[in-house]
Amino acid sequence: MEYRRLGRAGLKVSALSFGSWVTYGNQVDERGAIDMMSAARDYGVNFFDNAEVYAVGQSEELMGAALKKLGWDRLTYVVSTKFFWGLGNQFGDGVNAKNTLNRKYLMQAIDGSLRRFGLDYVDIVYCHRPDPHTPLEETVYAMHDMIARGKALYWGTSEWSADEIRAAWQIADRHHLHKPVVEQPQYNLFHRRRVEQEYARLYADIGLGLTTWSPLASGLLSGKYAQGVPADSRASLKSMAWMQEQLLDRQRNDIVIKLAGVAKELGCTTAQLAIAWCLKNPNVSSVITGASRIAQVHENMKALEISAQMTPEVMARIQATVGDAYA
Ligand code: NDP
Repeated sequence: MEYRRLGRAGLKVSALSFGSWVTYGNQVDERGAIDMMSAARDYGVNFFDNAEVYAVGQSEELMGAALKKLGWDRLTYVVSTKFFWGLGNQFGDGVNAKNTLNRKYLMQAIDGSLRRFGLDYVDIVYCHRPDPHTPLEETVYAMHDMIARGKALYWGTSEWSADEIRAAWQIADRHHLHKPVVEQPQYNLFHRRRVEQEYARLYADIGLGLTTWSPLASGLLSGKYAQGVPADSRASLKSMAWMQEQLLDRQRNDIVIKLAGVAKELGCTTAQLAIAWCLKNPNVSSVITGASRIAQVHENMKALEISAQMTPEVMARIQATVGDAYA
């Protein structure tokens, strides 16, 4: 495994990490979580991503239970969670319980997460989306306080605009508060603009790190949706039916079929090529992978070796195959 610093922060995360969105609590039970986290760790993965909203808290509970059974030394792994959407309707229409980054919600959310994980602290806590209705100062102070109180070690954002990230960083800088050190954006061959264009100045200016999500565009980049929706896939889940249109998109699937040709020449699968492509971006601290079964973990972790074989010529061929439509 290769380990990369979380931007300018000292924390080192594995270049490939493992997350639990959709899978934990829907497709993966505690046994599956233990087996997959254990397999990922055997490849050197030290970073496991989660969020309060995943399976309405159940994903944190499953990961916490798995960590307890696995019994790893706390110094050897990094766990993250994210706050914004709250725990669904558990609190009715509680105005301070969801879709907010206000202080009341955030201070309570971290305590709930720690309880569900069974941990004393999480390593990274993300603001899962921006909240234009809460003053940025309030959110920055709350995130700082979480760290000052020992409940989290680092904080960051997810899907914030470059302006919002810079503004939060500047508030923290001005008031000597803990600064956001990482952003968690979507990044894959079909979704590149934010990471490559919008954030371009932030890497050097504020030392922003990136932990990127959906390297396979939810499975599309594995080629599994070229002939329709496979019965055991993410898009076959009732709760994920809204994704079908994008996953079955003909133009994208035709590109994936062409990418399979490049992958074949490299001696890898299309999924491995897609994950390896994300790893090539030096601004990416960690590519968060997802899996509904253990064979996918084994396949995806080998992407690190493939990225080492991807010469500038191969990268140019991939670029030519995908074209500029998604850049
Ligand atoms: P991917 O785009 O890699 O999709 C993963 C899914 O694709 C798997 O669950 C599986 O679904 C399928 N898959 C994985 N490997 C293979 C393979 N080798 N061959 C065929 N199918 C495969 O990543 P995710 O969308 O899961 O995102 C990764 C992580 O990023 C999440 O777990 C989460 O931690 C984080 N994330 C963060 C977000 C944010 O807003 N901050 C948003 C989304 C994700 P199946 O078998 O069911 O088809």
